[in-house]
Amino acid sequence: MDKKNLFKMIPKVDDILDDDRINKLQDQIPRKLLVDSIREEIDALRKDIRDNTMDEEEVIRRNQILVDLILKRAEKKNAYKLRRVVNGTGVIIHTNLGRSLIDRQVMEHVFDVAINYSNLEFDLDKGERGSRYSHLKDIITEITGAEDAMVVNNNAAAVMLVLSTMAKDREVIVSIGELIEIGGSFRIPEVMEQSGATLKAVGTTNKTHLHDYERAINENTAGLMKVHTSNYRILGFTSSVSIDELFTLKEKYNLPLIEDLGSGVLVDLSKFGLEYEPTVQDSIKKGVDVVTFSGDKLLGGPQAGIIVGKKEYIDKMKKNPLTRAFRVDKFTIAALEATLSLYLDEQAAIERIPTLNMISMSLDELNYKAQRLYDGLINSIKDNSCSFKIVDDYSEVGGGSLPLERIPTKAIKISLDGVSINQFEKALREYDIPIISRIYKDNIFIDLRTVREDEFQIIIDGIQFGLNRLKGCI
Ligand SMILES: *Cc1c(COP(=O)(O)O)cnc(C)c1O
Repeated sequence: MDKKNLFKMIPKVDDILDDDRINKLQDQIPRKLLVDSIREEIDALRKDIRDNTMDEEEVIRRNQILVDLILKRAEKKNAYKLRRVVNGTGVIIHTNLGRSLIDRQVMEHVFDVAINYSNLEFDLDKGERGSRYSHLKDIITEITGAEDAMVVNNNAAAVMLVLSTMAKDREVIVSIGELIEIGGSFRIPEVMEQSGATLKAVGTTNKTHLHDYERAINENTAGLMKVHTSNYRILGFTSSVSIDELFTLKEKYNLPLIEDLGSGVLVDLSKFGLEYEPTVQDSIKKGVDVVTFSGDKLLGGPQAGIIVGKKEYIDKMKKNPLTRAFRVDKFTIAALEATLSLYLDEQAAIERIPTLNMISMSLDELNYKAQRLYDGLINSIKDNSCSFKIVDDYSEVGGGSLPLERIPTKAIKISLDGVSINQFEKALREYDIPIISRIYKDNIFIDLRTVREDEFQIIIDGIQFGLNRLKGCI
């Protein structure tokens, strides 16, 4: 058959719109998306005919599945672009996968605040205008022991606000070894510059001494700053100046001491066999004037930047115009308050805050989970080209926290015969609920630490989907 006749076999848009299955979807998917999908599939078919890749039989076959292809395309168009995935990587605070998870009950509180009016900026006692920052102050000061607290959009904003308020047009002394970059776009020196403060970097990459700081102090010095180098370590011949030592300088020269802690640890993680990470409480106890940290790293709450410290400084920050630009919305406040209230009972915090729960998960529990997932896989997936094994592996905290820490875990290793492991990994990512896994030496690993039991069926179905997809390609 010549091309002209093949083109005639292509159905008309209006005819496809009348198809029962397409018609039924008109309630669920906007008509425009359906029409776009029909046009795109027809164009693709037309292109294939034009490029001489199809004969009559193939056009007939394509026409038979045309509605399926259109529905799939329309559903993809209609799906949210930001959506849930399964994190099989074992990286708990995964920067690319949304960092910390939030407890369901915490989210119920957010839901309640979001679908109803709230006292966001209303003082219920006085019946007059209130402050959105008031809701969090008591709980944060209670937990951290600080005099005062405020919250902005993220920790980068917190650092910027602190420096802009306390050191604009003046100098802040920081160790060269602490001039770090976080996540590519946040560099301490650049943030400092943007804030209007001048960075006075002292010491060398591996060693900074107290006298380096002391020598840099002059009449234009606005403060001493310490940055917790949470995402890397310098090993070997090193020395840095501790907060205790800096405190002596602070006292001697009457300068404020500022600390960017990054992770915002509120419980001592060494209890779970992890390396000791300085807690916010420690910094406050040691006399740091202002401490900043993230809400969605080790704290395990929503994205936020928390500033705690002396009231005189926090009061000034509230008046800084940047505060309006960095202000948190009501969802953040609701989620943060509900997360922080779990910290009033440390056991509750560890059980209910997903980040802490995953960090503290025991090998027994991981083993049990691995066995359950393994059984599910063996029972459901009957495919000789695919085998599963429970293996020892390591998880990571992630989020630039505890970079050297490798936490022993259990993983499912998936080995495949005769199919490309990279294609299989891609197929898992293309499942309805994408499954993000890790490839190591031609096998796929799914770490049990970062997957919940209620995700097991998704993983099983996703693996089946991936196998079917690859079989279809071969
Ligand atoms: C992560 C981090 C930041 C940035 O925090 P965000 O909440 O991602 O803005 C700043 N400083 C340190 C030390 C960090 O670890």
